[in-house]
Amino acid sequence: MALRPEEISALIKDQIRHYDEKLESKDVGYVITVGDGIALVQGLENALAGELLKFPGDVYGMVMNLEEEHVGVVLLGDDRNISEGNEVVRTGRIVEVPVGDALLGRVVNALGVPIDGGRPIQTYKTRPIERVAPGVITRKSVNEPVQTGLKVIDAIVPIGRGQRELIIGDRQTGKTALAIDTILHQKKENMYCIYVAIGQKASTVAQIVQKLKEAGAMEYTTVVVSSASETAPLQYIAPYAGCAMGEEWMEEGKDVLIIYDDLSKHAVAYRTLSLLLRRPSGREAYPGDVFYLHSRLLERSAKLAPEYGGGSLTALPIIETQAGDITAYIPTNVISITDGQIFLQTDLFNAGIRPAVDTGLSVSRVGGSAQIKAMKKVAGSLKLELAQYHEMQSFAQFGSDLDASTQRIIDHGKRLERLLVQPQYAPMDVENEVTVLLSAKKRQLDRVPLDQVSSYERQLISHMNSEHRDLLEELLDKKDLTKELDEKLTEAIRLFTDRFVMGTEEA
Ligand code: ATP
Ligand code: MG
Repeated sequence: MALRPEEISALIKDQIRHYDEKLESKDVGYVITVGDGIALVQGLENALAGELLKFPGDVYGMVMNLEEEHVGVVLLGDDRNISEGNEVVRTGRIVEVPVGDALLGRVVNALGVPIDGGRPIQTYKTRPIERVAPGVITRKSVNEPVQTGLKVIDAIVPIGRGQRELIIGDRQTGKTALAIDTILHQKKENMYCIYVAIGQKASTVAQIVQKLKEAGAMEYTTVVVSSASETAPLQYIAPYAGCAMGEEWMEEGKDVLIIYDDLSKHAVAYRTLSLLLRRPSGREAYPGDVFYLHSRLLERSAKLAPEYGGGSLTALPIIETQAGDITAYIPTNVISITDGQIFLQTDLFNAGIRPAVDTGLSVSRVGGSAQIKAMKKVAGSLKLELAQYHEMQSFAQFGSDLDASTQRIIDHGKRLERLLVQPQYAPMDVENEVTVLLSAKKRQLDRVPLDQVSSYERQLISHMNSEHRDLLEELLDKKDLTKELDEKLTEAIRLFTDRFVMGTEEA
């Protein structure tokens, strides 16, 4: 078929002539059906994907499906007062949430409306909840740590500012506890925190907020809640809303930590609304774009280059597994999107090793560049030592005679394992972490009886802080363990250990 230029140009001219007319009309539509938080609306030919529509009674909806005859809309409010034939108006905007410092200390819902009984949010600044992630040019590689205050994390799976590190494990393995402890520790670290609770019980979230308040952590924290009793669309947008709030601070040059607790429930909410919208379902009944659901969220975490303000957004998404199965659909998706995972094990948790981090399966692909030099020096060989210990341990179970070097590895491993146990709500400062890990590295810890490890740790820290604060300050100042400082600290630790061991022998 030959192309006829004059015909084509006539077509184009015709299109241009009618271009304006089309834009003016079609901004009001009518509800065809409504139910389960979903409405089908007819007559909105120009509606955009993600656009906000206004329904009667100040209820808003978000366009999800663009079809030939109608658009599929998820309602962001109560659908009980909406019925067939109601008028629906386009707003031309996409869903936005308030952002800025007015949100600090507040508990808000997925639309940024306060639910803590306080005054309305005093800010004129808003941001769309969805945005394209920062590009390669605006980014810088991760080079500064997020100190979590948890020895096992800071030493073995260090997290950098701008990184995405997954917290994954079965139910009740301390996933939330790990994230909350990290928030608590940011008081000294000058980071803004956002905790996004998705599909959790409102009472659980209330307890968390209470804990944050008591610890004075709400001063630099915002909590975004979309509880289990709320509709699937609100649960679906909650993490994007939290992310938009974090991005505002990141672009102001601040360091922000955001926790998504948890993305398994988020995926379920998305599956619910996709099925209600009659989108085709795939594996495990999730829609085909469920990977994109989380990749476009987590990709928005970044460390910005100095010329773009140098801020950062660090994400700690949480995923709940079933019976430790990290190879299920959603877990594998999120593992592949993030820069590493902290794997929590029920067995370890029940054995009293808490945080129940499986040091073999947990990794941080950003690794050592997210540690201060001093930490890198004392923690470098920990992972290997623990791996050796676990391997030897299986031999030791047979009760055969062990040679001295095997016995040493086991003794050391046992004490390390005990040393990395840490109670909840007790994050540690980095200089203290380095001190106790140095004691382990120099095998001073191995001289301590196993059941005395935690008491030894406590006393060592208090001794070093009262008698050798100058050395600890030097360490903080240089962020490095110079040869000279290493020697001084080791000597101080050795003398303390001498006395400690003598005390336990006498007792
Ligand atoms: P869920 O799957 O229900 O969300 P979760 O994995 O988030 O659970 P948490 O709620 O954080 O787990 O913790 C489960 C329980 O373990 C809580 O009672 C908590 O107090 C306790 N716990 C968590 N971490 C520690 C710890 N380091 N030391 C002692 N107890 C802990
Ligand atoms: Mg939890």
